[in-house]
Order: sequence, then C-alpha cells, then structure tokens
Amino acid sequence: MSSATGLPSDCDLSPSAGDERPPLSQIYSAFESLLRAGWRAIEVATQPAPSGGALPIRAYVNAEPVGAVLIGGIHGREPAGALALARYVPRLVERGHKLGLLVMPLLNPWGYLHHIRYGPSGASVSDSDHLLGRAPEPACPEAAAITNFVMDGVRIRPGAAVLDLHEDPVYEAPDYQFEGSGSYIYVTGADALAHPASRRVRDCLERSRLPLVLEGVTRFGERLSDGIIVDTADGSIDELLARRVGCSPVITVENLLHAPDSPPLPQRVEVYLDVLEAFFGAPGEEFPCAPPSS
Ligand SMILES: [Zn+2]
Repeated sequence: MSSATGLPSDCDLSPSAGDERPPLSQIYSAFESLLRAGWRAIEVATQPAPSGGALPIRAYVNAEPVGAVLIGGIHGREPAGALALARYVPRLVERGHKLGLLVMPLLNPWGYLHHIRYGPSGASVSDSDHLLGRAPEPACPEAAAITNFVMDGVRIRPGAAVLDLHEDPVYEAPDYQFEGSGSYIYVTGADALAHPASRRVRDCLERSRLPLVLEGVTRFGERLSDGIIVDTADGSIDELLARRVGCSPVITVENLLHAPDSPPLPQRVEVYLDVLEAFFGAPGEEFPCAPPSS
C-alpha cells in the first residue's frame, strides 16, 4: 500500500506506455477534490493490482437525478479522456452547482497501468451486450458491475447527455489502416444528431488541432459520414445508456493515434478539455438536457 493514498504501490509507478502518462495515483487524487466539494464516490468494481491489492474503479456523483454523464478510460491505450477529466475537476465542481453529474473517469485502471486495451480477463470492461440481448452473460466481472451500476445503482434521468472520451489507437491492430490524423465521433440516441451538444462538440473538433476526419471506415467496419457515425450498435456502455436508459445525445469522441505519442498526449488532453467545455456549452447557452420530468 502507498501510505499517502491507501492505493496499491503500483499506482505510484510511471506506466511505461510510451506516452508519458502520469502514475495512476495522480488521477485518483485529482478527483479527491470532488469529495471536498460534497460529491459522493462509489467504488463500482476493482481490478487486481500487480503487486497485490486492488485498483478501484470509481464513480463520482454530486446530485440525482443525473443530467449528464462523463466517461473516460474504458480502453487502456486511450488515456487522454481520463487525464482531461482529471484536469477538468474544478470545472466539474462549478458545473455541478446547476446539474446532477455522474463522472466515471477511469473505468479500466488495470488497462491504463499495463497499456492494454481490455481488462485482465481480456474483455471490454464495460461491455453491455448481455443487457442488449446479444449475450447470455456479462463479458467480465467489471462489465457486470459497471452496467449494473448505471442501470440500478444511480438515478440517471432519461434524456441525460453523455460524453465518453475514447481514442482510436490504430497502431494496436496490425491489419487496421486508417490514413490521416484527427478525430471522429459517434452520436447515439433519440434526435441526438440535431442536439445542440452534438453540434457544439462537432464544431469544437472541426476547429481543433485534431480536426474531424470526414471520411473513412473504422476497424469495426463503420463508415464515417462527415466525421460522424450515427446510432451504432456496438455493445458499448454508450449504446446501453442510449437504448436502455434513454440518454441523448450520447457522444463518443475518438482521435486517431498512429503511435502512443502521435499525436502527443498533452495535445490530445487539451483538445478534450475544449470538448468538455463544448459539451456543456458556454455561459448563456442552455445546457442540453431534457427538462426535469414531473
Ligand atoms: Zn476506446
């Protein structure tokens, strides 16, 4: 145990991922400020730490019903989302004054530490196919716990907006070719594409240092249309939140990585900080969630 944090000592190591990502302890500690602001932390699941002990998978909630959900760190080679959310904590506190927020910043700490896409059992930690009628059982213990939590452990308002920050490490699949650099998005949910938050995120990326890639085909055979894939059925937690919880828009952001540090991680984090601001909207803009149901 690390005496300062109560976390396994692995959390103080600098992962050798080739992108200069910080130790896990830095990410965990960034979210401690939320607790001081009155937020609640929930340990949704754990993963085994290499040196023994457990790596916690934590969710943070300020108020229910939740009107917006922020997700990061599902895949271990895609650290920019978790790091952007950690930097965004002071803004989360401010945003939380007007809105119920659920933040799940690092759903796969084991993958982050090992620089591996999936969890220790080799499956996606938030795979939702068992709740979407496509698989008899959860893909792994984390998937069982995480999906159970969003369905039953927290009250998410139908029409809540979701932002899930991924990246697309093209280099991890030898036969996957995707020319060009930049970003693309998935948009899922009822009328999600026309939603102001979707438009703002799209416009933000268009102007960013990782501009939208307008055409291409992902490794999962999805074809981009103007930089967007609409209503994909990929078995992700995003699909679950759209179809079973009624969230909309559910926006999943990707940026193409041709090596762990290409583009450089700090640049990706900066872009995702801008995406977070765009998602919520500037002062004066209405936050795009459904009005409270009576
Ligand atoms: Zn991903």
